[in-house]
Amino acid sequence: MTVKEVTDDQRIARIQPLFTKWITLLSLADWDITWQFVDKLAGPDGDNAIARVTPIWPYQRAHIRLVRKAVDAAGLPGEIETVIVHELCHLVMAPLWEAIDDVLGGGTIANRLHGHMETLMDIFALGLQYSYDKKPRGALYSPVLEGTPQ
Ligand SMILES: [Zn+2]
Repeated sequence: MTVKEVTDDQRIARIQPLFTKWITLLSLADWDITWQFVDKLAGPDGDNAIARVTPIWPYQRAHIRLVRKAVDAAGLPGEIETVIVHELCHLVMAPLWEAIDDVLGGGTIANRLHGHMETLMDIFALGLQYSYDKKPRGALYSPVLEGTPQ
């Protein structure tokens, strides 16, 4: 059996409508958001992370990197959509997170809050998808997505 190669053009065709939809729904139209596919994310959790957003606040710019194999593995539309909503929710929270980071300046408490922020983004992403699309929550989870959005 041969594995059908997925091209970036095919990935873009799948992902672009999701970005367009959620940028509008989350009132992020004023942001300059770029995104790209990568084979792997750098960093300590690079082996597990499936996406990462870099917000540039207060300039309302952001860059999102999505790992190709995770995008390809997410078979149901809701799965990769959850990842995209999660990353975009980080932008909604960027002013708050920037203030927290300024006050705490990193360290243990900031790391703990970052963990809570990740959980919160998952809850927001799943809740927002359910609210807008009325998809059952169970359909949004994927056993094939072994990594977590960052
Ligand atoms: Zn995250």
